[in-house]
Amino acid sequence: LNARKPFISGNWKLNPQTKEEALTLGNEIAAAITEDSPDVDVALFVPYVFIESTMGVVGDKLSVGAEGVCPELKGAYTGAISTSMLKSIGVQWALAGHSERRVIYGETDDYINAQCRKLIEQGMSVMLCIGESLTEFEQDLAASVCAVQLKKGLKGISAEEMSRVAIAYEPVWAIGTGRVATPEIAQKVHAQCRAILAEMYDAETADNVRILYGGSVTPESVDELMSQPDIDGALVGGASLDSAKFGRIINFKP
Ligand code: PEP
Repeated sequence: LNARKPFISGNWKLNPQTKEEALTLGNEIAAAITEDSPDVDVALFVPYVFIESTMGVVGDKLSVGAEGVCPELKGAYTGAISTSMLKSIGVQWALAGHSERRVIYGETDDYINAQCRKLIEQGMSVMLCIGESLTEFEQDLAASVCAVQLKKGLKGISAEEMSRVAIAYEPVWAIGTGRVATPEIAQKVHAQCRAILAEMYDAETADNVRILYGGSVTPESVDELMSQPDIDGALVGGASLDSAKFGRIINFKP
Protein backbone atom coordinates (compact mmCIF):
# COMPACT_ATOMS: atom_id res chain seq x y z
CA LEU A 1 0.00 0.00 0.00
CA ASN A 2 1.48 3.36 -0.93
CA ALA A 3 1.64 6.27 1.46
CA ARG A 4 1.46 8.98 -1.14
CA LYS A 5 -0.48 12.00 0.02
CA PRO A 6 -2.61 13.56 -2.72
CA PHE A 7 -1.20 16.80 -4.10
CA ILE A 8 -3.41 19.36 -5.85
CA SER A 9 -1.58 22.29 -7.37
CA GLY A 10 -2.43 25.29 -9.47
CA ASN A 11 -0.31 27.08 -12.04
CA TRP A 12 -1.36 30.68 -12.54
CA LYS A 13 1.06 31.32 -15.44
CA LEU A 14 0.83 34.98 -16.63
CA ASN A 15 -2.34 35.58 -14.59
CA PRO A 16 -3.98 37.32 -12.75
CA GLN A 17 -3.30 40.84 -13.98
CA THR A 18 -3.25 42.75 -10.70
CA LYS A 19 -2.18 42.21 -7.11
CA GLU A 20 -5.77 42.76 -5.98
CA GLU A 21 -7.03 39.98 -8.24
CA ALA A 22 -4.25 37.67 -7.07
CA LEU A 23 -5.04 38.24 -3.40
CA THR A 24 -8.78 37.77 -3.89
CA LEU A 25 -8.18 34.52 -5.74
CA GLY A 26 -5.63 33.28 -3.18
CA ASN A 27 -7.98 34.12 -0.36
CA GLU A 28 -10.93 32.31 -1.97
CA ILE A 29 -8.84 29.24 -2.75
CA ALA A 30 -7.57 29.05 0.84
CA ALA A 31 -11.17 29.32 2.07
CA ALA A 32 -12.07 26.26 -0.02
CA ILE A 33 -9.75 24.16 2.16
CA THR A 34 -11.80 23.17 5.20
CA GLU A 35 -11.92 20.49 7.87
CA ASP A 36 -14.04 18.42 5.50
CA SER A 37 -11.46 18.56 2.69
CA PRO A 38 -9.53 15.41 1.85
CA ASP A 39 -6.09 15.04 3.46
CA VAL A 40 -4.32 16.77 0.62
CA ASP A 41 -1.30 19.00 0.00
CA VAL A 42 -2.15 22.12 -1.96
CA ALA A 43 0.30 24.38 -3.76
CA LEU A 44 -0.14 27.40 -5.98
CA PHE A 45 2.56 28.35 -8.46
CA VAL A 46 2.23 32.08 -8.93
CA PRO A 47 4.08 34.94 -10.66
CA TYR A 48 7.09 36.12 -8.64
CA VAL A 49 5.65 39.54 -7.88
CA PHE A 50 2.63 38.02 -6.15
CA ILE A 51 4.41 35.30 -4.16
CA GLU A 52 4.91 37.10 -0.86
CA SER A 53 1.55 38.83 -0.73
CA THR A 54 -0.28 35.63 -1.71
CA MET A 55 1.57 33.80 1.07
CA GLY A 56 0.21 36.44 3.41
CA VAL A 57 -3.43 35.71 2.56
CA VAL A 58 -3.29 31.90 2.39
CA GLY A 59 -1.44 31.39 5.69
CA ASP A 60 -0.43 27.79 6.30
CA LYS A 61 -3.33 26.26 4.38
CA LEU A 62 -1.32 25.83 1.23
CA SER A 63 2.12 26.53 -0.09
CA VAL A 64 2.91 29.24 -2.59
CA GLY A 65 5.62 28.33 -5.06
CA ALA A 66 7.46 29.83 -8.01
CA GLU A 67 6.71 29.07 -11.65
CA GLY A 68 10.41 28.70 -12.36
CA VAL A 69 13.93 29.48 -11.17
CA CYS A 70 17.29 30.48 -12.57
CA PRO A 71 19.82 27.69 -12.04
CA GLU A 72 22.45 30.29 -11.12
CA LEU A 73 22.60 31.73 -7.62
CA LYS A 74 23.81 35.23 -8.47
CA GLY A 75 25.57 37.35 -11.00
CA ALA A 76 25.00 38.87 -14.41
CA TYR A 77 21.66 37.25 -15.34
CA THR A 78 19.34 40.18 -16.00
CA GLY A 79 15.71 39.42 -15.25
CA ALA A 80 16.42 36.15 -13.43
CA ILE A 81 15.25 34.98 -10.00
CA SER A 82 17.44 32.63 -7.96
CA THR A 83 16.58 29.80 -5.59
CA SER A 84 18.36 31.67 -2.79
CA MET A 85 16.08 34.70 -3.27
CA LEU A 86 13.01 32.48 -3.19
CA LYS A 87 14.27 30.50 -0.22
CA SER A 88 14.88 33.69 1.72
CA ILE A 89 11.17 34.61 1.49
CA GLY A 90 10.07 31.13 2.55
CA VAL A 91 9.33 29.50 -0.80
CA GLN A 92 9.61 25.70 -0.77
CA TRP A 93 8.34 24.66 -4.20
CA ALA A 94 9.05 25.59 -7.80
CA LEU A 95 8.05 24.21 -11.18
CA ALA A 96 10.63 23.06 -13.70
CA GLY A 97 10.22 21.76 -17.21
CA HIS A 98 6.74 23.09 -17.94
CA SER A 99 6.03 22.62 -21.65
CA GLU A 100 5.52 26.38 -22.07
CA ARG A 101 9.06 26.93 -20.79
CA ARG A 102 10.40 24.15 -23.00
CA VAL A 103 8.58 25.33 -26.14
CA ILE A 104 8.25 29.13 -25.84
CA TYR A 105 11.49 29.82 -23.95
CA GLY A 106 13.57 27.00 -25.40
CA GLU A 107 14.55 25.51 -22.05
CA THR A 108 16.44 22.26 -22.66
CA ASP A 109 16.57 19.11 -20.57
CA ASP A 110 20.07 20.12 -19.42
CA TYR A 111 18.88 23.55 -18.28
CA ILE A 112 15.85 21.99 -16.57
CA ASN A 113 18.17 19.52 -14.84
CA ALA A 114 20.30 22.43 -13.58
CA GLN A 115 17.16 24.08 -12.17
CA CYS A 116 16.09 20.85 -10.44
CA ARG A 117 19.55 20.30 -8.98
CA LYS A 118 19.83 23.86 -7.71
CA LEU A 119 16.45 23.63 -5.99
CA ILE A 120 17.37 20.33 -4.34
CA GLU A 121 20.81 21.63 -3.38
CA GLN A 122 19.10 24.57 -1.63
CA GLY A 123 16.91 22.20 0.40
CA MET A 124 13.86 23.15 -1.67
CA SER A 125 11.39 20.97 -3.59
CA VAL A 126 10.74 20.72 -7.30
CA MET A 127 7.79 19.71 -9.44
CA LEU A 128 9.31 18.42 -12.66
CA CYS A 129 6.87 18.60 -15.58
CA ILE A 130 7.18 16.10 -18.41
CA GLY A 131 5.00 15.04 -21.30
CA GLU A 132 4.81 14.25 -24.98
CA SER A 133 3.55 16.36 -27.89
CA LEU A 134 0.49 15.43 -29.92
CA THR A 135 2.62 13.95 -32.73
CA GLU A 136 4.59 11.90 -30.24
CA PHE A 137 1.35 10.73 -28.61
CA GLU A 138 -0.04 9.68 -31.97
CA GLN A 139 3.14 7.70 -32.62
CA ASP A 140 2.75 5.92 -29.28
CA LEU A 141 5.89 7.60 -27.93
CA ALA A 142 4.50 8.92 -24.61
CA ALA A 143 6.43 6.50 -22.41
CA SER A 144 9.72 6.90 -24.25
CA VAL A 145 9.50 10.71 -24.26
CA CYS A 146 8.74 10.67 -20.53
CA ALA A 147 11.64 8.27 -19.92
CA VAL A 148 14.09 10.65 -21.61
CA GLN A 149 12.71 13.71 -19.80
CA LEU A 150 12.82 11.92 -16.43
CA LYS A 151 16.34 10.60 -16.92
CA LYS A 152 17.74 13.91 -18.14
CA GLY A 153 15.74 16.09 -15.76
CA LEU A 154 16.64 14.12 -12.64
CA LYS A 155 20.28 13.43 -13.48
CA GLY A 156 22.42 13.72 -10.34
CA ILE A 157 19.47 13.67 -7.94
CA SER A 158 19.77 10.84 -5.41
CA ALA A 159 17.10 8.40 -4.24
CA GLU A 160 17.06 10.16 -0.88
CA GLU A 161 16.56 13.55 -2.52
CA MET A 162 13.61 12.20 -4.48
CA SER A 163 11.48 12.79 -1.37
CA ARG A 164 11.59 16.47 -2.41
CA VAL A 165 10.63 15.83 -6.01
CA ALA A 166 7.15 15.53 -7.50
CA ILE A 167 6.53 14.68 -11.13
CA ALA A 168 3.76 16.25 -13.20
CA TYR A 169 2.83 14.25 -16.27
CA GLU A 170 1.36 16.82 -18.64
CA PRO A 171 0.71 15.64 -22.18
CA VAL A 172 1.25 18.77 -24.26
CA TRP A 173 -1.87 18.04 -26.33
CA ALA A 174 -3.96 18.30 -23.15
CA ILE A 175 -2.58 21.57 -21.77
CA GLY A 176 -4.99 24.45 -22.20
CA THR A 177 -6.84 22.61 -24.95
CA GLY A 178 -9.87 21.35 -23.06
CA ARG A 179 -8.83 17.89 -24.23
CA VAL A 180 -8.18 16.07 -20.94
CA ALA A 181 -6.44 12.68 -21.16
CA THR A 182 -8.80 9.83 -20.33
CA PRO A 183 -8.19 8.34 -16.88
CA GLU A 184 -7.06 5.14 -18.64
CA ILE A 185 -4.45 6.90 -20.79
CA ALA A 186 -3.18 8.97 -17.86
CA GLN A 187 -3.03 5.94 -15.54
CA LYS A 188 -1.10 3.96 -18.14
CA VAL A 189 1.56 6.65 -18.60
CA HIS A 190 1.77 7.28 -14.84
CA ALA A 191 2.43 3.57 -14.25
CA GLN A 192 5.06 3.64 -17.01
CA CYS A 193 6.71 6.69 -15.40
CA ARG A 194 6.75 4.93 -12.04
CA ALA A 195 8.39 1.90 -13.66
CA ILE A 196 11.03 4.17 -15.20
CA LEU A 197 11.68 5.70 -11.76
CA ALA A 198 12.00 2.20 -10.28
CA GLU A 199 14.62 1.44 -12.93
CA MET A 200 16.46 4.71 -12.28
CA TYR A 201 16.28 4.38 -8.49
CA ASP A 202 14.55 1.45 -6.77
CA ALA A 203 11.01 0.18 -6.25
CA GLU A 204 10.54 1.87 -2.88
CA THR A 205 11.68 5.28 -4.11
CA ALA A 206 9.41 4.99 -7.16
CA ASP A 207 6.51 3.96 -4.96
CA ASN A 208 6.91 7.08 -2.83
CA VAL A 209 7.17 9.66 -5.63
CA ARG A 210 3.99 11.61 -6.25
CA ILE A 211 3.06 11.75 -9.92
CA LEU A 212 0.47 14.40 -10.73
CA TYR A 213 -1.57 14.60 -13.90
CA GLY A 214 -1.88 17.94 -15.70
CA GLY A 215 -3.82 18.96 -18.79
CA SER A 216 -7.31 20.51 -18.81
CA VAL A 217 -8.27 19.11 -15.39
CA THR A 218 -11.72 20.37 -14.33
CA PRO A 219 -14.20 19.63 -11.53
CA GLU A 220 -15.85 17.23 -14.01
CA SER A 221 -12.72 15.17 -14.65
CA VAL A 222 -10.82 15.28 -11.36
CA ASP A 223 -12.66 12.56 -9.42
CA GLU A 224 -12.12 9.80 -11.92
CA LEU A 225 -8.52 10.84 -12.52
CA MET A 226 -7.80 10.82 -8.78
CA SER A 227 -9.32 7.36 -8.42
CA GLN A 228 -6.56 5.86 -10.59
CA PRO A 229 -3.91 4.01 -8.57
CA ASP A 230 -0.89 5.87 -9.97
CA ILE A 231 -2.41 9.36 -10.20
CA ASP A 232 -1.47 11.15 -7.00
CA GLY A 233 -2.62 14.65 -7.75
CA ALA A 234 -3.29 17.29 -10.35
CA LEU A 235 -1.45 20.29 -11.76
CA VAL A 236 -4.16 22.67 -12.88
CA GLY A 237 -3.78 25.70 -15.15
CA GLY A 238 -6.99 27.33 -16.37
CA ALA A 239 -9.26 26.00 -13.62
CA SER A 240 -6.88 27.28 -10.90
CA LEU A 241 -7.91 30.84 -11.87
CA ASP A 242 -11.51 30.13 -10.84
CA SER A 243 -11.82 29.61 -7.09
CA ALA A 244 -15.10 27.68 -7.34
CA LYS A 245 -13.61 25.27 -9.87
CA PHE A 246 -10.25 24.93 -8.14
CA GLY A 247 -11.99 24.58 -4.77
CA ARG A 248 -13.98 21.66 -6.14
CA ILE A 249 -10.79 20.11 -7.54
CA ILE A 250 -9.10 20.37 -4.12
CA ASN A 251 -12.18 18.72 -2.61
CA PHE A 252 -12.11 15.83 -5.09
CA LYS A 253 -14.10 12.69 -4.38
CA PRO A 254 -12.13 9.61 -5.39
C1 PEP B 1 -0.69 23.61 -16.95
O1 PEP B 1 -0.37 24.67 -17.44
O2 PEP B 1 0.13 23.03 -16.22
C2 PEP B 1 -2.00 23.06 -17.24
C3 PEP B 1 -2.23 21.81 -16.96
O3 PEP B 1 -2.94 23.90 -17.81
P1 PEP B 1 -4.51 23.59 -18.08
O4 PEP B 1 -5.06 23.00 -16.80
O5 PEP B 1 -5.10 24.92 -18.40
O6 PEP B 1 -4.56 22.60 -19.21
